[in-house]
Amino acid sequence: MTNDEGRMTKDQLTREQIWKGLEPLRGNGDSKLLTHLNSCVHCGLCAESCLFYMATRDPHLTPARKVDLISSIYKRYHTFTGKYLPALVHARDLDEASAREMVDLLFGACTLCGRCTMHCSIGVDISYLVAVGRNMLSNMGMVPATLQSTVQAAVETGNNMAIPTGEFVETLKWMEEEVVDEVGDPAARIPVDEPGKQILYTLNPREPKFFPLSIAAMAKIFYVAGESWTLSTRMYDVTNYAYFSGNNGEAALIANRLWNEMNHLQAGSLVLAECGHGTRAFRWESPNYLERGFPFPVMSSVECIAAYIREGKIQLDPEKIKTKVTMHDPCNLVRCGGIIREQRYILHQFIRDFVEMTPGGTDNHCCGGGGGMLSMSEYNERRMKAGEIKAEQIRISGAEIVVTPCHNCVDQLIQVNATFKLGVQIKTMAEIVADALIIRNQNP
Ligand code: SF4
Ligand code: SF4
Repeated sequence: MTNDEGRMTKDQLTREQIWKGLEPLRGNGDSKLLTHLNSCVHCGLCAESCLFYMATRDPHLTPARKVDLISSIYKRYHTFTGKYLPALVHARDLDEASAREMVDLLFGACTLCGRCTMHCSIGVDISYLVAVGRNMLSNMGMVPATLQSTVQAAVETGNNMAIPTGEFVETLKWMEEEVVDEVGDPAARIPVDEPGKQILYTLNPREPKFFPLSIAAMAKIFYVAGESWTLSTRMYDVTNYAYFSGNNGEAALIANRLWNEMNHLQAGSLVLAECGHGTRAFRWESPNYLERGFPFPVMSSVECIAAYIREGKIQLDPEKIKTKVTMHDPCNLVRCGGIIREQRYILHQFIRDFVEMTPGGTDNHCCGGGGGMLSMSEYNERRMKAGEIKAEQIRISGAEIVVTPCHNCVDQLIQVNATFKLGVQIKTMAEIVADALIIRNQNP
C-alpha cells in the first residue's frame, strides 16, 4: 500500500529509496558478496574483537549483529523462504525501522577497522559487508548529515575542511619561514604548484587547519633528503570521506582529482601524507572505483621516510628522544593495507626505549576514530567510550610518547589522552622523525 505521495504507508521510506537501497544486494552474481552474506554460523567469536562491544558489553553492537542485519534484509528479497516465510529465517523488510538500525550500527558503531574479519572463525568479511550496508544507505540518501557535509566540502571546495586557497598558501608561507629557521638555510622552501618534480606530496586538511607544524616537519625531511617535491594548491587533500559514506561515485570523483593533478604537474610519483583511510581509499580502493591502475608510483610518507633512511639520505640522532615511545597502528594502513614493518624500521633507528602495544601490528585495537566517526558528532559519546580500549593499551605500555602515522588517529588519540588523563604526547611519524633529524645545510 502507498499513500498519495507514493510513500509506503507501513513506513516512511519511498518505493524509490527501497529500490535503490536494495541495489547493492542484488550482487549481479558477485560470489564474494553472496558467500559472505550467507556464511555466518553465529558462533559469536567476533564479539571480543570489536572495540564497540568490548567497551560497552552491549550485545546489540557485536559484529555478528551487523552482519545479521544486512543478511536478514538480503534473505527477505532474495531467498524463497525469506520471501514467503520471513519469520522462519528472521528475514526483515528494508523499512524505516531496519534502515534506522542500519544507520546506528553501520555508521555509528563501526569504524571499518577489519579486526572482526581477522578474528571470524570462518572468515566472513564483516567490514566488507558493513561497507555494502553503507552503500545501501548512501543510495537511500541516509548518510548521517554530519558525515555527508564533510564529503560535500571536499566535493565542492577540493578539501574536506573547505580551507580557502589564500588561507592555505599563507599557512605554507608561514611554515616555510619555520623551516628556514629550523634548517638555518634562507633558500629552504615549501614548493607549491611546481611542475616536473619527482614527488607530488599530499596533506590531510587537518594539517593546514590545526597542525601546520606537521607540514613543516615533512618539509624539513624533504629538505635534508635533498628531495625534488611540490605541494599543489589545486588538489592536496589525501582524505576521501566518500569511501566512508558509501558513495562510490563521489569517492571516484575525489580520487580522480589526485590523478588529474599528477598529470597536470607531471610529477614522478605521488606520496600520500600520514592518513590511514586516505591511503587505503586512494592507493588500494581507487583503482576499483576508477577502473584503471596507476601509471605512476604511489607510496605512503612512512615508506618514503624509511627509504630515505635506508638510502642514507637522512640520519637520525638516537640521543634526541630518551623517553619511552609506543606506536598506535592505524587500522587502514596496517591491518587493511599491510604497511607494518616500515614504521617499526624507522623508530628502531633512533628510539632507544620503544615498546609495542599489546596487541599490536595487524591485531592492534582501533583507536575509535576511524570510519568517519570523527565527523559524526552525534556519536561522540560512543566514540569516546570505545576509545577506552585504546586508552588502556597506552596506559599499560607505560610510554610517554605515542606515535601514529595517521592524522585521524592523532585527533582521536588527543581526545582519548584528555578524556582518560593519560598524560602522553601524541605525534605523527614525520613529527618525531623531524625532532631527531640531523640537519645538513643543502646550500652551505
Ligand atoms: S570492523 Fe571493527 S568496528 Fe566494525 S564491527 Fe568489525 S571490529 Fe567492530
Ligand atoms: S565470528 Fe564469524 S561466523 Fe562467528 S558470529 Fe562472528 S561473523 Fe558469524
